[in-house]
Amino acid sequence: MNFVNPKKKLGQHFLKDENVARKIVDRLTFDSYTQVLEIGPGMGILTQFISKNKKIFIIEIDKESIEYLKKKFPYLVENIIHNDFLKFDLNSIINDKPLAIFGNFPYNISTQILFKVLKHKDYIPFFCGMFQKEVAERICKTEGTKKYGIISVLVQAFYNTYYLFDVSPQVFAPPPKVNSGVIELKRKENYNLPCDQDLFFKIVKLSFQQRRKTIRNSLKTLQLDENITEDSIFDLRPEKLSNVDFIKLTQKIQNGRIQNQ
Ligand code: SAH
Repeated sequence: MNFVNPKKKLGQHFLKDENVARKIVDRLTFDSYTQVLEIGPGMGILTQFISKNKKIFIIEIDKESIEYLKKKFPYLVENIIHNDFLKFDLNSIINDKPLAIFGNFPYNISTQILFKVLKHKDYIPFFCGMFQKEVAERICKTEGTKKYGIISVLVQAFYNTYYLFDVSPQVFAPPPKVNSGVIELKRKENYNLPCDQDLFFKIVKLSFQQRRKTIRNSLKTLQLDENITEDSIFDLRPEKLSNVDFIKLTQKIQNGRIQNQ
């Protein structure tokens, strides 16, 4: 079979080392889920190691890859989706059943992929992906560290995060300019936030927009009542607050607003 020509604009860096591919698939602990989706399979180096007992969907944007995949995986033809993951209607394959997602996808859309996962978290108990190492670390870091930020808090509010291992540029063709890291997200048992979710997202984003300022300063635009902001949590910088602290902060602001109405 011929090979797919790597296209830069589609972020194509194909894994060429089968051992690394196997190592990634071996680490996928999604045995309890029957439906699986792989994002950006390329030439299917990961796909080939997925158990045939699973109902696996693969979504790929590149026409040339799609042709290749159809030939390589005739047993999967019905589940090969030629589409942009970011535009694709996930509900059309979810069918009210949990969907585990994994992939080695382009780094330039990896954060958007993650936000889409968060949006559909009710159906996505498991996610494993290859990220630019820096981003992978940021997702998994906890409070009090330099890399801790918006993405860490938002993901960790719903998922337990695990940094699995580093992957070096040489195992890809062509090699990317950055190091990579594989991470795994497992949805928490109690992932429903005990506060308004939109307000939580807003507060986290506003707080980190100026990470060197106190929460009190950063949340000025919310025009909060003084009896709310006198709490000492408002003296802190955002990187000191865990995701649980941000939930408490949201509750405090939410309750204060209701009382003032
Ligand atoms: N997983 C393969 C390919 C990695 S390259 C491997 O490990 O070898 C990233 C792949 O994602 C490419 O095949 C690219 O065409 C695909 N891709 C890029 N943007 C995409 C999008 N928006 N939706 C789905 N697939 C995408």
